[in-house]
Amino acid sequence: MTKNITSNANAPVIKYTEYLKFGFVKTRFQDFYCPHCGKQLNAGWNYQPKFCAECGQLLDFSEVTYEEEEFLGYSEDAYEKASELMRRLRG
Ligand SMILES: [Zn+2]
Repeated sequence: MTKNITSNANAPVIKYTEYLKFGFVKTRFQDFYCPHCGKQLNAGWNYQPKFCAECGQLLDFSEVTYEEEEFLGYSEDAYEKASELMRRLRG
């Protein structure tokens, strides 16, 4: 059974993505995805699309609570590399 695009607006799917800010600061931020086709939406604090550019699914951002980027800590990997570099420079 194929799912038809509903005529009603649906809330976007919220996922959290982690990335390394400045290469070593673990940061988590909100990402929005289409509830119908799953494509990432180009949405943010200042822009909320009325519908998905990919499949045309109507979107409802009214229930969405925006969260600021969350600081999770420093990357141990990056810290190790920096320490190694410091040792070499001192060596
Ligand atoms: Zn879509």
